[in-house]
Amino acid sequence: MAHAAAVAALIVALQAASACSRGGDSAAVPPDALAPSAAPTANEPPAPPSASALPAADGSAVAIPADAAPSGPLVMIAGGDIDLSRGTGQKILRNPTWDPFGKIRPLLLSADLRFANLECPLSDQKGITGHKDNPLVFTGPPGGAEVLTRGAFDIVSTANNHAWDYGKRALGETLQNLDRVGIAHVGTSATAEKPMGPRLIERKGHKLAFFAMTAIFNDGPANNPEPRKYVAPASIDLLRVEIERVRPQVDWVVVSLHIGQEYSNEPVQAHRKVLQGAVEAGADVVLGHHTHTPQRVEFHRGKPIAVSMGNFVFHQHSDHPWTGFGYLSRVTFTRGKNPSIEMCPYRTLAAIPQPLGPREDDHFVQHMRRISVGKHTGKLVERGNDGCWVVQDGG
Ligand SMILES: [Zn+2]
Repeated sequence: MAHAAAVAALIVALQAASACSRGGDSAAVPPDALAPSAAPTANEPPAPPSASALPAADGSAVAIPADAAPSGPLVMIAGGDIDLSRGTGQKILRNPTWDPFGKIRPLLLSADLRFANLECPLSDQKGITGHKDNPLVFTGPPGGAEVLTRGAFDIVSTANNHAWDYGKRALGETLQNLDRVGIAHVGTSATAEKPMGPRLIERKGHKLAFFAMTAIFNDGPANNPEPRKYVAPASIDLLRVEIERVRPQVDWVVVSLHIGQEYSNEPVQAHRKVLQGAVEAGADVVLGHHTHTPQRVEFHRGKPIAVSMGNFVFHQHSDHPWTGFGYLSRVTFTRGKNPSIEMCPYRTLAAIPQPLGPREDDHFVQHMRRISVGKHTGKLVERGNDGCWVVQDGG
C-alpha cells in the first residue's frame, strides 16, 4: 500500500542521512521451535533462577521472582541504551564485579522479564575499550556480559549504530559472550541469518516474539552494505512479513527500534512515522532508543510506543542535561487487552541509574508534560509508590 511504500522509502532516506549506528543478533530461532510449555525452550534464555542464583557485586545473592502459574498478566521492564565501553569498560576491567544496577534493582525485579539496548560490542581488544582517535568507536570488554546479568536481563537488542564498531569478528564475540551468560539477543546475526529476529521467549505462559532493528548506521566502515547483512536495518516491510509469519504462534510482538535525533527532546515527524509503522506492521509495543534523552510515550492504534527511553547505563553529556535522565518502560500484557505502560524515571550519575528524589521527580514530570504534546500522546496520570507513572493515551 502507498503508506507502506512511503515508510520504506523514508527508512532508506533516514539510513542514508544517518551519522552512526548498528547492532545485530545471530541465532534467530525458528518460530516453530517455540515449545508450548512454561519450561525453558531452546530459544528461551535460561529462566531467571527462582531465587538467589545471581551474584550481586557485594557477593550476596540477587533474588529473582520465581515464575508464577501460566495465567494472569505478564510484566516486562524495558530500558534504553547501555554502553559498557570507554571509561566504563576500563572500570569493568579493573573491577569485574562492578554493578551499575544495584540502586534500581527493585524496579528491575518488579517485572517478569527484562529488556535493554546494548549499545556496544563486548569483545576482547586486549584492554582497549575505545578507539584512541575516534571517540565514537568503542567496545566493552567480555566481562560486560557478567555486568548485564546483575541487572537480570533476559534479552537485549544489539541492533544499533555501535554494533559494528569493531567489525564482524567482534560482533560474533559479543553474541558469544551474551550466550555464555544466558542472555538472549536480537537485532544482529553472526551468520547474517535473520538479524531482525524474531527471538522467541516464553514466560508465565505468555509467548513473545522480539524484533530489533536500527535506522541509524555510523559513518565510516559501518556505513556500507556488508554490515547491513549482520545488523538489522529498519525495514517496516520486512518486519510486517516476519510478524505475519510468527503471529499465529505468539501472544505478543515486541519491536525495538534504534532511531531518533540525538540530544533532542521531541521526535521528528519522519521518525514517528517509522515507529508508528512498526505498530501498523503488527507490533503490540514499540521500544525506541538512541537519542540519549528521554522522549514522550505515544499511542498508535491503542498500542504504546516509548519514543525514546534515553540513556540507561551511559555517561551523560555535560552540554545536554537531559542525557542524565531516562526512564524504564514497564509494560503489562493482559490477554484480550492492549498492553498498558508505566514510565519509571531515573537519574544516571557516572553511568549508574538511580531513583529520583522528590524534587528531581517534579522536574522530570514537568519536563515530560511539557514535551508530551499532540494527539494520542501519553499522559502521566498517576504516580505509584515505586516512582513509576501510569501513562495513558491522551486521545
Ligand atoms: Zn545509538
